[in-house]
Amino acid sequence: METAPRPTEIRRIGNSEVRIAWNDGHVSVYPNHHLRNHCPCALCRERPPHVLPVVSGSGDELQPLQISLVGRYAIHIQWSDGHDSGIYSYATLRAACPCCSGTGVSPPRESA
Ligand SMILES: [Zn+2]
Ligand SMILES: [Zn+2]
Repeated sequence: METAPRPTEIRRIGNSEVRIAWNDGHVSVYPNHHLRNHCPCALCRERPPHVLPVVSGSGDELQPLQISLVGRYAIHIQWSDGHDSGIYSYATLRAACPCCSGTGVSPPRESA
């Protein structure tokens, strides 16, 4: 699987977003809840996304506590709500890029 793009940099932006720079020059910015809704683990796939316990209260933002590399193909995210079984392959991450989703809908800009 040499065709999948690879991240060259993974960085948390404040408490609400994760930025990933890819080796093909693209930069993806994922709101935390967006990443969480795309969690590929079996637990999350068994239910529709809107049932996911997305935390939206102020002062209690859902955020990745730890992001670690898994082998050469994926990252593992430990969330502030205790969920830590999601392993996101690079291909999954890239497919979930908000600006590349192909829907033509831009994500709302909330950054100050
Ligand atoms: Zn999950
Ligand atoms: Zn994109």
